[in-house]
Amino acid sequence: MKNENKEKKSLLKNFYPEYTFEKVENIPDELIHKEGIKLILMDMDNTLIDSKGKYSKELRRWIKNIKAKGVKFYIISNSFSESTVKRISKELGVQYLYKASKPSTKAFKKICDKFPDANKCEILMVGDQLFTDIWGANRFGIRTILVKRLNKKEIIISKIKRPFERIILNHYYKKEENIEKCRV
Ligand SMILES: [Mg+2]
Repeated sequence: MKNENKEKKSLLKNFYPEYTFEKVENIPDELIHKEGIKLILMDMDNTLIDSKGKYSKELRRWIKNIKAKGVKFYIISNSFSESTVKRISKELGVQYLYKASKPSTKAFKKICDKFPDANKCEILMVGDQLFTDIWGANRFGIRTILVKRLNKKEIIISKIKRPFERIILNHYYKKEENIEKCRV
């Protein structure tokens, strides 16, 4: 029984983010700097933009500020709508990859191969979903930040996954090192 519990906990770890923040623009640039991050991969839907396809001025400023310090950005989106991903990437001045099929690691590899100077420990994934963004990034072996989703309104497949995410997050926040972290 004890072994079973241990196994369950180690399985849950696959879905644990390294940090959690209320929203992207709350991620301190000192943290990015301190951790030596060279490349930031960003989920789009519900991480950068809300259900109306809008993002905040603060987010735009945040990206601009971090970019000015030499950090590269890349949108990695599961969206099938290239026009939306393209528009957002153009407006925010970052590159993009759509139809990424996260949590598959293929898209992560495809992007990261374009940045041979960045080691995996210098690459950060920011997203709002444990089962796509965080799990995929953990499987690929890069750093992770989970943010709170911007909208409650979601596609059905994401909605179905949320209660399971909650169970994992409850375990995550119970861990001593995560107690102080932002509840998302
Ligand atoms: Mg998302």
